[in-house]
Amino acid sequence: MDNKNDWFEQYQRDRDEWLRKIDEKVEEERRNYAGPHCCLTMDRGLQSERKILQYDKKYREYSINLSRSKGGFLFDYCPFCGKKLPESLRKLWFNILEQEYHLEFPLSLDKKKVPAEFQTDEWWKKRGL
Ligand SMILES: [Zn+2]
Repeated sequence: MDNKNDWFEQYQRDRDEWLRKIDEKVEEERRNYAGPHCCLTMDRGLQSERKILQYDKKYREYSINLSRSKGGFLFDYCPFCGKKLPESLRKLWFNILEQEYHLEFPLSLDKKKVPAEFQTDEWWKKRGL
């Protein structure tokens, strides 16, 4: 009987030590997180296979997708760390394409004339936005 209990206590101590090490490692990763998003949890959430959280780098928009058919809800604050997320650049994307490139319908008729930089985050990074 005693041997069984010893084994179990040792198992619990090893397990607690193992979990403590994992917590330390995760905490260290969290502290050292250096972008590109607000926090490690958001970063991991965006990488998840389930695609519930999405980041559109072209418009710099964060959204949460609760159903596949209906598109996502945009959000302004990170649900994990509470930081204010950068503003959406969707309106500016259309404005710049219209004013600087004279493209009135960049998603349809003028789609092929949209410069490649506007398909990624390059256009707003270049402009220091
Ligand atoms: Zn965050």
